[in-house]
Amino acid sequence: MNVLAKAADLEASAPAGAYVQEVTSVQHYTDNLFKFRMTRPESFRFRSGEFVMIGLMIDGKPLYRAYSIASPSWDEELEFFSIKVPDGPLTQYLQQIKPGDAVLMKKKSTGTLVHDALIPGKRVYMFSTGTGFAPFASLIRDPETYEKFDQVIVTHTCREVSELKYGLDLVEATKNDPLIGEMAQAQLVHYASVTREDYPFKGRITDLIANGKLFDDLGVPRLDPAIDRGMICGSMEMLKDTKDLLEKAGLTEGANNKPAEFVVERAFVG
Ligand SMILES: Cc1cc2nc3c(=O)[nH]c(=O)nc-3n(C[C@H](O)[C@H](O)[C@H](O)COP(=O)(O)OP(=O)(O)OC[C@H]3O[C@@H](n4cnc5c(N)ncnc54)[C@H](O)[C@@H]3O)c2cc1C
Repeated sequence: MNVLAKAADLEASAPAGAYVQEVTSVQHYTDNLFKFRMTRPESFRFRSGEFVMIGLMIDGKPLYRAYSIASPSWDEELEFFSIKVPDGPLTQYLQQIKPGDAVLMKKKSTGTLVHDALIPGKRVYMFSTGTGFAPFASLIRDPETYEKFDQVIVTHTCREVSELKYGLDLVEATKNDPLIGEMAQAQLVHYASVTREDYPFKGRITDLIANGKLFDDLGVPRLDPAIDRGMICGSMEMLKDTKDLLEKAGLTEGANNKPAEFVVERAFVG
């Protein structure tokens, strides 16, 4: 079934409460990962790190899924980093999009991986697995991140080395960016690790936190609630295990209405 429509053709019949946006670029990384960028509605405001519902018209009806916005709030386009689930109701079609195609987006964004949910600190850790890197792709391109924290450590763990490419490319581009490059060069540290192949950093992030290897590799002290803040995005299991480790180190979980020392958000349901 071909469900992809050109943005110009769908605009007149946009579903209620949704924007129709146009894909501007697509890059495939592996059989299960791709990124795409699309136009941003002029009236659409969001906080770096938030997620939004995006979708396609399938069988004449809109089908939406939650997606972290991977671009920062100042970017004139919107970027997303996506999984390709074989037979996934949305991504079996979304993975086929090309520049010019239409993507639907609901008008309100939300989320807990935002600066407002953290109290001030010196160092922020952003722990991610798989597409859980997406909200941090937004936050590490936001100048506020570097104004609020002296050091920004983003960890990205995947099964295979090829799955790290989006993050590796993005961090390099961020360090060369005219707006934030200087801050990122001085303050941003990217710690990429894989679980199923040989790589300089190997293993589950929870094991690397628990056995202290992460901190030894980075040359920083162990977690300290007076200094360190955390943001976590991954599978339910990764969230739970990482959250337990942060709590054991004395950090407490925060939310938009009750900022504290760390925040969590799942990268997918299931
Ligand atoms: C708050 C939030 C933010 C999200 N942000 C993103 C994002 O930035 N990028 C993204 O690709 N997805 C993200 N997701 C997941 C997304 O909403 C969809 O689940 C995904 O696009 C697959 O849609 P689908 O309809 O093809 O399959 P679904 O029916 O939604 O999922 C089928 C199964 O695939 C697996 N799965 C789904 N998404 C993922 C994933 N991202 N990584 C690994 N396994 C997965 C799960 O086991 C799930 O049960 C987010 C989910 C939530 C709740």
